[in-house]
Amino acid sequence: MLIDLHPLLSQKGKVKQLETELEMDSFSSKMGTYQIIDKKPMNFVFTNLGDGNILVDADIDIALGIPCDRCLEVVRTQLKIQTSIEVNLSDTDEVALGKYDSEDDEILDENDFVNGTEFDVTKFAYGEILVNLPMKVLCKENCKGICNRCGTNLNHGSCGCDTTELDPRMAKALEVFNSFKEV
Ligand SMILES: [Zn+2]
Ligand SMILES: [Zn+2]
Repeated sequence: MLIDLHPLLSQKGKVKQLETELEMDSFSSKMGTYQIIDKKPMNFVFTNLGDGNILVDADIDIALGIPCDRCLEVVRTQLKIQTSIEVNLSDTDEVALGKYDSEDDEILDENDFVNGTEFDVTKFAYGEILVNLPMKVLCKENCKGICNRCGTNLNHGSCGCDTTELDPRMAKALEVFNSFKEV
């Protein structure tokens, strides 16, 4: 969704408020695709600071379904993002100041949410959600994960697999022993 900020530029101190829906039902990045379980309308306040500088205050509140890092069960993950950035509409090559740096190799170029005097709300929200995603989500602190032999979710009960970790040299010896046994 594009918002033309041109009318705002007519007068320093002018403010534009915007409440809008996030136009996404799922969120995709190189980490995977997460369903957006719940979302509140986003709130934006644009303030003309003069000389083409616009202060953008944004409020984003969504719940994503992110798989648990250990057992893969989907965990409702609430993201409440409040952010303020300054963009300059007279120089769109360097629109975002401060928190973004070029070291992030994200799927979308997060600096391209301003084009001329148009502000792309969806692209902006995408970049904000991306930088605020938790590195790791656990369904609970002591999640037991899944059995690496049969895939049973060990939070729901044990599967009876022998998951004793063997010393690699012991494992080799056991393999030899077992191959003799089979003869
Ligand atoms: Zn888990
Ligand atoms: Zn198992």
